[in-house]
Amino acid sequence: MGAEWGREEEASQGVGRLMIRGSLVLDATGHARRLVEYDKKFDPGFQGAYGIVAEVESHPFALDTMLFMDWRDDHTHAPGLEAMRAANEKLPTFLYAMPFTKNKVFLEETALVTRPALDFPELKERLQARLKYLGIKVTRVEEEEYCLIPMGGVLPKHPQRVLALGGTAGERLIVFGLSLFVKSNNAARASLLARGIPGLIAMLGGLLPTLGDYYGDAESLKERKDAVDAAARKAAKAALAAAAPAASAASSSSGAKEAALSGSGSGAGGRS
Ligand SMILES: Cc1cc2nc3c(=O)[nH]c(=O)nc-3n(C[C@H](O)[C@H](O)[C@H](O)COP(=O)(O)OP(=O)(O)OC[C@H]3O[C@@H](n4cnc5c(N)ncnc54)[C@H](O)[C@@H]3O)c2cc1C
Repeated sequence: MGAEWGREEEASQGVGRLMIRGSLVLDATGHARRLVEYDKKFDPGFQGAYGIVAEVESHPFALDTMLFMDWRDDHTHAPGLEAMRAANEKLPTFLYAMPFTKNKVFLEETALVTRPALDFPELKERLQARLKYLGIKVTRVEEEEYCLIPMGGVLPKHPQRVLALGGTAGERLIVFGLSLFVKSNNAARASLLARGIPGLIAMLGGLLPTLGDYYGDAESLKERKDAVDAAARKAAKAALAAAAPAASAASSSSGAKEAALSGSGSGAGGRS
C-alpha cells in the first residue's frame, strides 16, 4: 500500500495491484499509519483498561448516571495493600461505572496514560481491591474487556501530500474536532461557531442539574453501597412482615378446612 504522485500513465490496474487515481489522499488507517510519513520514531503512551460486565449482588451506582473517572483511592488504604497504594500513588488509576440494572453493571479500571502501558493483571487487581472495599460481590462475569489505546506520539512530518486523519494524525477526542476547526477556512469556521455554540450551551445546560448531585462529598461510594444494602434488607423485612399475617391467615383457614373435612373443627364437627 502506498501513495505516488504524477504517475498518470500508470493509473490503471497493474498485475496484482490496484491503482486508484485521486487528487487528494487521506490516511485513515489508525495507528497502523500506512501512508503518511513521520520523521521521528512513533513512541506513544498508552491508555490501558481492564473492564467487566458483571452481575453483582448489589452496587451503589445510580441507575440513570454513569460514573466517570473516579480517582478515589480509599480501597488502597486497607492493611496489606501498601504496595498497591504506593503503585497507585505513582501511577494512579480510576474507575468508570455504567450500571444497567441494580444487579448488572459495567466496571472498568483505567490508567489514563502511562509509558509503558500498565499491565492488565495490575489493573485487574486494583479493580478487585476496589470492589472488595466497596462490598460489591460479583456473582457472574458476563464479559471482560482488555483495552489498550495508543495515546499521543509524534505528529506526521510537515509538509507532505498525504493528509492524516484520526489516530494516524495522533488525534483523539476533542483534539480531532479542534484540529479540523483550525484547518478549516473562515466561512466554515463561522458556520461551525454559529451552529456549534448554541448546541454546546444547550448540552452544558443539560449537564448542570447533574453537578454536585452525584456522590456529594458527604457520601462516599461505600456509604452509598451500605445504604443500598440496608434499604434492601429493610424492604425484604417489610415484605416478610406483610406476608406473615396473610400466610398465617391462609394456614389457619386451610387448618379450618382440614378440620372441617376431618370433622375435627371446633365449629362444624365440634368436639366440644
Ligand atoms: C477498547 C477501546 C476503547 C476506546 N474508547 C474510546 C473512547 O471512549 N473515546 C474515544 O474517543 N476513543 C476511544 N478509543 C479510541 C478510538 O477507538 C480511536 O481513537 C479511534 O478509533 C481512531 O479512529 P481512526 O478512524 O483514526 O482509526 P481506527 O478506528 O483504528 O480505524 C482504522 C481502520 O483502518 C484499517 N486499516 C489499517 N491498515 C489498513 C490497510 N493497510 N489497508 C486497509 N485498511 C487498513 C483498520 O482495519 C481500521 O478499520 C477506544 C479504543 C479502544 C481500542
